[in-house]
Amino acid sequence: MQEVACEICGKPHKIKDLEVSYIKPDVYLTISEEIRKNSKLSDDLCQINWERYFVRSVLPIPMNDFGYNYHFGIWVEVSEEDFNMIVETWQDENPTPNEILGVLANDIQYFQQPTDGLKGVLKLVDQNKRPQFYLRQYNHELCQDQKNGVSSQKAASFNHLLYE
Ligand SMILES: [Zn+2]
Repeated sequence: MQEVACEICGKPHKIKDLEVSYIKPDVYLTISEEIRKNSKLSDDLCQINWERYFVRSVLPIPMNDFGYNYHFGIWVEVSEEDFNMIVETWQDENPTPNEILGVLANDIQYFQQPTDGLKGVLKLVDQNKRPQFYLRQYNHELCQDQKNGVSSQKAASFNHLLYE
């Protein structure tokens, strides 16, 4: 496992395949007990009050000095129609190639500006992997990082919170 010096503290941090990772959409933490009874959260899927629908996904960021990506583990909000389509085709050998519009549903606290609400597209990769989310706005540091890639030192600093 690769260890890289962190940009924030200078200490070595491990970079694994999947790092900073959220087990719920942020909004799930704010709902009332009553609404929670009418909602469902699993490892991969979440619906809130039959009104809002979320899919657990990864947000890949290329590391320019390594041959692989850093991955944030995040939730993406999608329409009810797309949610149902994803549930139905998840296990297919060749999932639908359609690009699914979605909205990032977690605030990754590394970034100064909030990341929740950023728009992008969800791509279903194969049945053994979580869908991948690609941002389609470029006015945010996270979007620039995904588009241009980052140094492994910056990727290590994404993991800084895990070491505090
Ligand atoms: Zn650090």
